[in-house]
Amino acid sequence: AAKNQGRSRYCYFMPAMQEASAMRLRLGNDLRHALTDRQLSLFYQPIVDFESGRIQKAEALIRWQHPTRGWIHPLDFIAVSEDNGMITEIDEWVFHQAVDQVAIWRANYHADFQISINTSSAQFQNNGIKLNEWFVYLQDRGLSGDCIAVEITEGLLLNATAIVSEKLLAFRDAGIQVSLDDFGTGNSSLYSLKKYDIDYLKIDRSFVANLTADSNELVLCEAMILLAHKLDMKIIAEGIETQEQFDLLRQAGCDYGQGNLVSKAVSAEEFEKLLS
Ligand code: C2E
Ligand code: MG
Ligand code: MG
Ligand code: MG
Repeated sequence: AAKNQGRSRYCYFMPAMQEASAMRLRLGNDLRHALTDRQLSLFYQPIVDFESGRIQKAEALIRWQHPTRGWIHPLDFIAVSEDNGMITEIDEWVFHQAVDQVAIWRANYHADFQISINTSSAQFQNNGIKLNEWFVYLQDRGLSGDCIAVEITEGLLLNATAIVSEKLLAFRDAGIQVSLDDFGTGNSSLYSLKKYDIDYLKIDRSFVANLTADSNELVLCEAMILLAHKLDMKIIAEGIETQEQFDLLRQAGCDYGQGNLVSKAVSAEEFEKLLS
């Protein structure tokens, strides 16, 4: 069918595709210098405990300050880094950076403070995460595993290979917590929620975006909250932008919330102002 749809499509799309892949190639090359030239940074978005109203956690979100292109968001370079193999070093850098930061915030602010980091599914499957080195890094700093939560996505559980299961067990042994990100958007089986030890479910922001008192989204959020609690998990709503969404989620029994209503992701320096 694609063939019959004719030449015009082909002619139209080809230059755009070539342009896009040339761009990826350039970005990929630039990314090799990004780490050594300190162009990458972690931004932090506060996660609020609904009950106490306090900032108890933060999600670390990577940013790239490109010398000529300005700030680049992760969705525009994580896939590139997976293609060219840089993701291994990036994930490692994110972990070290987050641990160094959480050590400071635990000492100066809240003894239970936790930072969650995002991981690439590819890294999980390819054994790219050097867990033993992670544990040593934590131990050397006298930190318990629960200062870090690792965010994974649903797809990973569905295709859980032996390597993935092993990793999840190893995280549990080390006390590192596991969050299921973007919950409700992918294909995870309810069975896998029980099978693997997941500590947090994160309600995807697409549910929160349309949340009003009489919406289907409210019913879905309530169901996810119930499900999480029945399975002994805590639940975090992401993408909260309005006070109404915040109030509805709190009333529904949601444990934690994050979103632009409280703050977008900010530099560590800015984050400290939010903490104090
Ligand atoms: P995510 O883990 O689901 O992160 C949430 C995304 O939603 C972030 O986008 C955040 O800035 C955005 N967000 C938070 N609150 C709101 C809100 O109220 N409204 C709206 N419209 N958006 C909100 P960001 O920082 O662009 O990150 C995009 C994705 O990139 C993340 O999705 C995550 O999957 C990935 N990512 C981020 N940092 C890393 C990293 O260090 N490593 C890896 N492998 N992936 C990362
Ligand atoms: Mg995340
Ligand atoms: Mg998320
Ligand atoms: Mg999301």
